[in-house]
Amino acid sequence: MDRPRITIFDTTLRDGEQSPGCSMNVQEKLRLAQQLDRLGVDVIEAGFPIASDGDFEAVQRISASVRRPIIAGLARACKGDIDRAWESLQGAARPRIHVFLATSDIHLKYKLRISREQCLEQACEAVRHAKSLCADVEFSPEDATRTEVSFLCQVVEAVIAAGATTVNIPDTVGYSMPEEYGQLIRTLREKVAGIEKVTISTHCHNDLGLAVANSLAGVQEGARQVECTINGIGERAGNASLEEIAMAMRVRRDRYPYETGIVSEQLYPSSQTLAEITRVPVQPNKAITGRNAFAHEAGIHQDGILKNPLTYEIMTPQSVGVPDSRLVLGKHSGRHALALRCEQLGHPFERRELDEVYRKFVVLADRIKKVQDCHLLELIQDVKTAAKKIPPAGAALPFARAAAAGSASESHLLSFPAPAPAPRVPVTLGEHHGEQEEYLWGV
Ligand SMILES: [Zn+2]
Repeated sequence: MDRPRITIFDTTLRDGEQSPGCSMNVQEKLRLAQQLDRLGVDVIEAGFPIASDGDFEAVQRISASVRRPIIAGLARACKGDIDRAWESLQGAARPRIHVFLATSDIHLKYKLRISREQCLEQACEAVRHAKSLCADVEFSPEDATRTEVSFLCQVVEAVIAAGATTVNIPDTVGYSMPEEYGQLIRTLREKVAGIEKVTISTHCHNDLGLAVANSLAGVQEGARQVECTINGIGERAGNASLEEIAMAMRVRRDRYPYETGIVSEQLYPSSQTLAEITRVPVQPNKAITGRNAFAHEAGIHQDGILKNPLTYEIMTPQSVGVPDSRLVLGKHSGRHALALRCEQLGHPFERRELDEVYRKFVVLADRIKKVQDCHLLELIQDVKTAAKKIPPAGAALPFARAAAAGSASESHLLSFPAPAPAPRVPVTLGEHHGEQEEYLWGV
């Protein structure tokens, strides 16, 4: 079945870079652009060339070395900006000039101090000029969602006639609701002459946490390009998050039957690269790329995941490039998860031995909350050392922990008294207590 293709327009290097603490130097931008290329984005907005020499150089360097995606340079609706953008894009295999001009009355009156007529004229003139230089021209009516709809339609129709090939509808201040944003895209498709010749694009900000929802609503109403950023970085609360858009379409193909060129296994590496470059960490519970996005701590969840990942996972960590679904070992973990982690650390245990490890683990987890591999290794060592000292059956010696008290392996972690080796439980009491037993320890 042929699914409509959604163009992924990444603006991490432009809108994203405008977010506090996320500025990058030319070398860093180049490195990120190369990662975006591996990720499979269709368009990289590489910068705002008139803004600074650094931005200009970044667009230039990226144009020269990243050849597959379209490289876009941003420009205000004036000749100087457009010429500068075009100059920076000279080496690009597939250049795009992205022109923007605010259209809402509040921006026209207080920011630009121009009338609607002047706005319309300036937009058309700018697009015509950009088109005289570059075949691929995108136009954005800034603050589109707060622009009077009939005026927005008028502007969009005019810039299409002037040569724009993509029309982007920014929710610049993150004010829209999904239904409302979808309705706006639908209205443009119904009312604007020539709209079928161009690509409609979404550009949603996350001030109300709705950037992704709004973008998807736009796609459902016919938008075929989504502007977004890695980790959702961007002005204020950020932009629509690229990884969330891409995975929503992949996981819920039944509701969003669209294709993107995103190589999903590169999502996590891209997120990590950006976090490393900007030193802005990803929030732990961030969908798709946060460190807890695939972490399961509750014992019943861990056990389910181990038996069949589909019980609690709607996508695999591997599908987004997370190396391993990290089961966080804490006091709510079940013994199944513990057994697996021990095995992964090279210590497979028989059931009886595991009982012992598990008892100590629960006591330790109660004290230190998250049991790391290093703690677990020490604990395992401790249990193994103790096991060697178990006297032969019938001997009446007490558990000889004191004898080993000086050894480094056990002194610092396990200050609680080690229990005596588990007595042999009569089989009638149930050596194996069935599936539910796995959870009793953790609750
Ligand atoms: Zn923006």
